[in-house]
Amino acid sequence: MRKFLLAATAAFAATASTAQTPTHPPKLLVVFSIDQFSADLFDEYRPQFRDGLARIASGTVFRNGYQSHAATETCPGHSTILTGDHPSRTGIIANFWIDQKGGRSDVTVYCAEDEKVPGTSSTAYKVSPVHLMVPTFGELMKARWPGSRSVAVSGKDRAAVMMTGRNVDQRWYWTGQKFETDLIGVAMPQVVGKANAVIAAELAQPRGPFVASAFCQAKARGIPVEGGSKPVGAGQFARNAEDANAFRASPELDAGTLALAAGLVDEMRLGKRADPDVLAISLSATDYVGHTYGTEGEEMCVQLTELDRDIGGFLAVLDSRGIDYAVALTADHGGQDIPERKRLAGVTAAARVDPGLSAGRMGLKLVNQLGLKGFGLLGESSFGDIYIDHTLSARDQNRLLDAAVAAYKAHPQVEAVFTAKQIAATPLPTTPPDQWSLIERARASYYPGRSGDFLVILKRDITPIADTSRYIATHGSPWDYDRRVPILFWRPGQTGSTANVSADTVDILPTLAAVIGLNVPAGSVDGRCLAAVAACTAPSVQGTERGKR
Ligand SMILES: [Zn+2]
Repeated sequence: MRKFLLAATAAFAATASTAQTPTHPPKLLVVFSIDQFSADLFDEYRPQFRDGLARIASGTVFRNGYQSHAATETCPGHSTILTGDHPSRTGIIANFWIDQKGGRSDVTVYCAEDEKVPGTSSTAYKVSPVHLMVPTFGELMKARWPGSRSVAVSGKDRAAVMMTGRNVDQRWYWTGQKFETDLIGVAMPQVVGKANAVIAAELAQPRGPFVASAFCQAKARGIPVEGGSKPVGAGQFARNAEDANAFRASPELDAGTLALAAGLVDEMRLGKRADPDVLAISLSATDYVGHTYGTEGEEMCVQLTELDRDIGGFLAVLDSRGIDYAVALTADHGGQDIPERKRLAGVTAAARVDPGLSAGRMGLKLVNQLGLKGFGLLGESSFGDIYIDHTLSARDQNRLLDAAVAAYKAHPQVEAVFTAKQIAATPLPTTPPDQWSLIERARASYYPGRSGDFLVILKRDITPIADTSRYIATHGSPWDYDRRVPILFWRPGQTGSTANVSADTVDILPTLAAVIGLNVPAGSVDGRCLAAVAACTAPSVQGTERGKR
């Protein structure tokens, strides 16, 4: 990180300004999303944090935050953080969905693409915010203060797009070899080329292991994994030259992302002008580490140690520039560990999914049983949104839907199946998110025309990956290990306390709006202002008691 930072920023002087308790609104809002940073991981590692994450955790902490909807994936999660709305309003129901009416030969649609661009597919796509149905915080700021700038830097395009939307000043994301943008006609800051050159030189070299603390070394234990993967659990991210996948699933990606963010702060003079700016930083490495190694080994321990240090380095840059800033930090979703290690920890129900539950295999089985043609069902996985083949007659679609719901429900690994009709008929819940039923969680990520014909929810502790040759662990369920995320607010010079009451990531926008004095009309967003953080005008959530919402 230090090497990247030195390259990306002018002389980095770590002379932290002595902060006083501020009485005026901050000039720069920094919003961190740590991809796959579950509240379980935050609770486990909080006593270990020494640097940036410890500083931010000295503010107001909601340790029971929620990405409250069922579809706990990167795109829906990022769509809630800076819009104040659930995916049922943002329209971002998943990372991918199926559009059988779109007219493209590839019926799969990527959440952050414009599928109307000729010659594209869901894998070779044109990055675009076109599917995001609501304005972002940056857009509201720019409407109120014409001089406000909205900037995003991320390890993933979809995170940067969903945190900024259509009206954005700079948006940079890692595409495998370098940081790129989808913005046309926007001058590229010099620091982007500089950061890309430094990272390319770093990637071209092999990398030795990161240093593991005694706490991390105590977690090192090789765990055999079913389904084709090598054992995991004892690793410190040594990699070969040019191994971009290993670079991405290591602390190196976040170091590069933070260095570029710091460089943009300098070059754009963020937080230094009359109107306030917002900088969204989505740090993706924790997610790639979780998918590649699981969440409870030495690898995740080293990742979170380095992330703590690198966020500290970034905050030190802001301090040394004398910027008046405030921070919000959360995650797009949580995650769970590999079932093999969960069983060793006593979770006897932990298991990998039966591959027969995949939409493709289930569809072919039912098509044969019913004497139909085609593939029957479309879906990305063995859970979540599943679609009926719409080339079948209306009568056959109904027969197939009934048969599919019955077949999934009868499977011992399935907790519940809801049809689109049942979900649409469910009111959006108004109770705190820790009290929502499964169908209420499903309702919060249901959007007509994009959601499936039915939704499959696997039992708790089932990992929906059978073939582990690429990824071994994941998220995406409506269970709390995937839904519960930390929500933190901090400003240098201010200390806060830890709240055990639940908060929702949709509460971040109205809260930050109150922090900078931006009026958000009541009822215009799903979230509520958090009174423990800001001087809210109604409606708000009080610090200790959460009423109907
Ligand atoms: Zn992920």
